[in-house]
Amino acid sequence: MLACEQKLIQNSYYTDSVNAKPDYPRLEGDLEADVCVVGAGLAGLSAAIELADRGYSVIVLEAETVGWGASGRNGGQIIAGLACDQSVIEKALGFEAARQAWDITISALNLVRERIKRFDIKCDLVDGFLGVAVGARKGAALREWYDSMAQRYHYDTDAEWIDAQDLHKWIDSPRFHSGYYDRRSGHLHPLNYTLGLARGAVSLGVKICEHSPVRAMTKGEPAMLWTDHGSIKARFVVLAGNMYLPEVAPDLAPELARRIMPVGTYIVGTEPLDPALTASLVPTKAAICDTNFVLDYFRFSADNRMLFGGRVSYSTMTPPNLKDDMHKRMQLVFPQLASAKVEYAWGGFVDITMNRAPDFGRVAPNVYYLQGFSGHGVALTGMAGKLVAEAISGQAERLDLMARIPHHDFPGGKILRTPALVLGMAWYRLRDALG
Ligand SMILES: Cc1cc2nc3c(=O)[nH]c(=O)nc-3n(C[C@H](O)[C@H](O)[C@H](O)COP(=O)(O)OP(=O)(O)OC[C@H]3O[C@@H](n4cnc5c(N)ncnc54)[C@H](O)[C@@H]3O)c2cc1C
Repeated sequence: MLACEQKLIQNSYYTDSVNAKPDYPRLEGDLEADVCVVGAGLAGLSAAIELADRGYSVIVLEAETVGWGASGRNGGQIIAGLACDQSVIEKALGFEAARQAWDITISALNLVRERIKRFDIKCDLVDGFLGVAVGARKGAALREWYDSMAQRYHYDTDAEWIDAQDLHKWIDSPRFHSGYYDRRSGHLHPLNYTLGLARGAVSLGVKICEHSPVRAMTKGEPAMLWTDHGSIKARFVVLAGNMYLPEVAPDLAPELARRIMPVGTYIVGTEPLDPALTASLVPTKAAICDTNFVLDYFRFSADNRMLFGGRVSYSTMTPPNLKDDMHKRMQLVFPQLASAKVEYAWGGFVDITMNRAPDFGRVAPNVYYLQGFSGHGVALTGMAGKLVAEAISGQAERLDLMARIPHHDFPGGKILRTPALVLGMAWYRLRDALG
């Protein structure tokens, strides 16, 4: 286990409510496959499923266990769109390509539901998402965004605007001004969803190896990958290691590491609450996010706990007083939860890119990568895996469209990029605070 991660996954509600899971064996010896996938998170498992569906033999190598990374500990929100605004994509690719990218994110929501059904995954799926604005100024900006999305992307077929005077019917909180409800987005238990995808992949013939960190790779056709106890010879490779990849294998693809930055984000879980109380706070049980740059994201679990996420850190240290600090943030949203006991606190890192757009592509003709979901990967990873499988099987149009989004290295190199980002984020925090 990576040292910096030790504290972040202790005390997660998800590990305490996990479905039964088989242990997948470590890679021992030398094997061959059509495709070797590095990383058994949502992105790697999705690629494995899609490749197996297309007749490829697939081996997935995971440094820890299935879902150990961001996929097994996130907020569980499945949300339309990318982490960046559509205007970023429009500027980079033009409107028509941006529209196709938007459609990919909508397909991602459908794909989650298809897979839950196909593999009979018990992961507490709930439909519905509320995007809410803190204060009138942010409310006006959100309204402008919503109208533009309705006009340009027909978003109003999936979503509806909620005026200030009606918001109390959707959420009983003094903090928010107005918002929108998206019926196609929603939330789920991410660890159980990830484990269900792994089970689905195995049912299609995929071999998963846990505790098998890839330490080195030689590009070429075939490519070779080495773990501590074996090797894989593969015609194609999919790198889906998120920001853990450079930690586990610093020399494997350093050009990818420079384009993403780990940002810590944290979640607390309360004791189970009175169902009548939760129904009064959020009658639809929708997932909720505010529109602040340093945002709060929250939802109720299947057993009526409030799972409240937010706060960010740019060092790999777990913030002190996490439970108390997050409880205070939660009370700004729901003063009704002042006496609710916080039983869980955990966190993880999101892999942000400079422009918050996802970073997909190739580091060699037969070596693909998926990264930079920027905190917006629960649904999008599904389509990311599909796009890679399409490309490997000769239909590269949709992957290439996403790969055209330009990405830049974080400035300051390994040593200075964290202070630079902290300064930048301090500015955004100030803007959030000023409303
Ligand atoms: C606290 C938190 C809350 C979040 N909330 C949300 C949310 O509500 N909605 C949303 O859409 N997104 C959210 N996200 C983001 C989302 O979880 C990620 O975008 C998504 O899970 C990324 O999946 P992945 O497969 O790329 O990465 P991961 O799940 O991190 O998987 C990568 C895997 O690769 C393995 N690995 C790395 N290097 C190697 C190697 N060399 N050899 C073998 N294995 C390797 C790692 O061990 C890891 O298991 C959140 C993230 C966090 C941390």
